[in-house]
Amino acid sequence: MRILVVEDEPDLLRGLTRALRDEGYAVDTAANGDDGLYKATEVNYDAIVLDVMLPKLDGWTVLERLRESKKTPVLMLTARDRSADRVRGLDLGADDYLVKPFDLPELLARIRALIRRSASEVRTVISIGDVTINTASRTVARSGDVVALTAREYSLVEYLALHRGEVVTRTTLYEHLFDENDDTLSNLLDVHVSNVRKKLGHDFIATRRGHGYCIEA
Ligand code: CA
Repeated sequence: MRILVVEDEPDLLRGLTRALRDEGYAVDTAANGDDGLYKATEVNYDAIVLDVMLPKLDGWTVLERLRESKKTPVLMLTARDRSADRVRGLDLGADDYLVKPFDLPELLARIRALIRRSASEVRTVISIGDVTINTASRTVARSGDVVALTAREYSLVEYLALHRGEVVTRTTLYEHLFDENDDTLSNLLDVHVSNVRKKLGHDFIATRRGHGYCIEA
């Protein structure tokens, strides 16, 4: 899963980026509204964390323009505990908001919820054959035994599981699993797929030649 963080306070931006990467997300960053809107429009992020008070374009304007073309889930950060600000954000199409200062675990939980909701997934636990994916604890078990996956392997499994029954193209997977700073070799995706198959069974991820990958529903 790939997330964009738009925040102009360097310490907060760094802290958020680190925390999200520790959770296994691919993270892109923008330090002003202009850059944020550009990236949010160019890339299909799984979620966007958007500060309200930003240089160049404020968060409301970014959101308003983004909503002309994209439904990407947006969590807004507001420094002001004023109900009018929150109402404005929600009315412009924000999916959720947090008032600064906020607890990191709460932000992470809200992001997980946004990602589930955008995939129309109401449950936190997805069962596929003998494999169970818990999107709240971000763990995977096979026949009841927890399987150790790397962050990228988990992201791959989660993305395909949230889109189970669909063929997901390689391009889409690259877009959602790797961030703007990853200079990954093109075959790395195959390595992750191969490792997941070793851990969860060869048939867990099907290859659709010329199209991409699929987890059967
Ligand atoms: Ca700010």
